[in-house]
Amino acid sequence: MEKKVFNKENLDIRNYMEDCVLDLLGPVLENLSSCQCDNCALDIMAIALNSLPTKYVVTKKGELYTKLSSLQNQSDVDIITAIAKASVIVSRNPRHDR
Ligand SMILES: [Zn+2]
Repeated sequence: MEKKVFNKENLDIRNYMEDCVLDLLGPVLENLSSCQCDNCALDIMAIALNSLPTKYVVTKKGELYTKLSSLQNQSDVDIITAIAKASVIVSRNPRHDR
């Protein structure tokens, strides 16, 4: 039997939660006056994403998909909390001198 190879050439599969976190990351870090350098921001994002549920969506390549607003509103508080917790962890042990 021939093995079917699926390709993602025309479609993107992505974790929608990533976009949600990215959206809120700047404002939340600003609010907490935590370090906003790329190193810290990405560390915080990784830790926050690990503690949040993944929400995979499939989109056509290059297509901007509209925000899933119901999901967005419902999880905003969770996302902000996750970012805040992650920023505490990272600020205790940043990858650079203070
Ligand atoms: Zn930093």
